[in-house]
Amino acid sequence: EYANPRNVAAGSVRQLDPRITASRRLDSFAYDLVTSLGQKTHEEKHNILKSFGFKVNSYSRRCRTLEEVFDFHKYCQKIRQELPYEIDGVVVIVNPIDIFEKLGVVGKAPRGAIAYKFPLKQAETVVEDIKVQVGRTGALTPVAYLRPVRIGGVVVSRATLHNEDEIKRLGLKIGDTVIVGRAGDVIPDIVKVLPELRTGREKKFKMPKRCPVCGAEIKKDPDGAIYSCPNPDCPARKHRYLYHFISKGAFDIEGLGPKIVDQLVENGLVADPADFFSLKEGDLAGLERFAEKSANNLIKAIQSRKEISLDRLIYALGIDNVGEETARELAKRFGSLENLAGASSSALEKIEDIGPVVAKSIYNWFREKRNIDFLDKLKRAGVKIKNPKKPSSQKLSGRVFVLTGKMKNITREKAKEEIRKLGGKVSESVSNKTDFLVVGENPGSKHEKAKKLKVKTISEEEFLKIIKINS
Ligand SMILES: [Zn+2]
Repeated sequence: EYANPRNVAAGSVRQLDPRITASRRLDSFAYDLVTSLGQKTHEEKHNILKSFGFKVNSYSRRCRTLEEVFDFHKYCQKIRQELPYEIDGVVVIVNPIDIFEKLGVVGKAPRGAIAYKFPLKQAETVVEDIKVQVGRTGALTPVAYLRPVRIGGVVVSRATLHNEDEIKRLGLKIGDTVIVGRAGDVIPDIVKVLPELRTGREKKFKMPKRCPVCGAEIKKDPDGAIYSCPNPDCPARKHRYLYHFISKGAFDIEGLGPKIVDQLVENGLVADPADFFSLKEGDLAGLERFAEKSANNLIKAIQSRKEISLDRLIYALGIDNVGEETARELAKRFGSLENLAGASSSALEKIEDIGPVVAKSIYNWFREKRNIDFLDKLKRAGVKIKNPKKPSSQKLSGRVFVLTGKMKNITREKAKEEIRKLGGKVSESVSNKTDFLVVGENPGSKHEKAKKLKVKTISEEEFLKIIKINS
């Protein structure tokens, strides 16, 4: 029923009935400690967790050099068969917490940690056909249809070919025998073609001239790598757009998967995403395999997501080149949909990581009538946008604080929160980049170090005055 262990675990946790979850015999290791208990390294986190009685992974190890990391990776590959659970690699994480934090995050991924995966699991099979899939933006992706083959415990029958260039690079023809590789949960790739096994009956693949779904003439982008269906009403594009709209990073509607979306579209109940919000229980009653209870739950789930944060909404709109991270940045900078819609191309380009191409696609999106009408329809369907809170003041902007000792009138977590709210930063250790050391009762070695580095120290009372919280 499930493709791999990760899906079993995720699927089990998501069960509505806790008895089902309990029956799945799940287990876990603790890898992170979020609360600060004075730990300075990741290794210490594991030790603290262990002393608290959490299960920690006994294989984790501190490596002092990259050489040691490579050796450990090799070692884990050797022992993976003996483990009572499946792994697809190791996580390498920067040990000192202050450096880890300084490295920051990209999207949701911290720069201080990487998943160092094992090489692909591979198998040999035959490409029986190459078909073209139409994505949300209309882009065509060739997909290889494989003679079903088992790789790493699961049967696969499709491999992505990304684009026409990839097919050329591989020298792939329909009917070719190929090596297929699979890493983790992603769709398998074709690693290489075995031309020595050709029979002469292989056929060359050509990108279609017309959209395989709606028949519109295919457009090629100026670089020539991307082909797309330009028809905004293309059913394939529409379906993909609907899936995107309700996906995890967007409206995240529980229980509304592609199969149900397809059913809703086929029955004329949904034509664009705004229609989800006006669905009523009775509308679903006639649908195949739709019990009254599940209809009820689905409507509830949809209605519960009507209020949405601005960044999620921007992402949901599916503007070309606007991913989750860009959407977050736009929400933060513009603060409301109205401001974003009214932004000039040059204002958009001023934002970090947004170049002329992205700026243009955002600018154009808000000037197309069908999009303006759609936003209007969303509003009428009852969708409410929660704009991000403006930082009340940025008076500590760029200032670095370190806290030491126990404070009487404010918890450490609250103090950190207040500093960040005012634009300041909190660091775990004193360095010459520290602006203030806040000294509470029984300060530790940080106080000594601050004196040595001539870092300004302030008392709790002075600190509270700065952040204007009175006890
Ligand atoms: Zn089309």
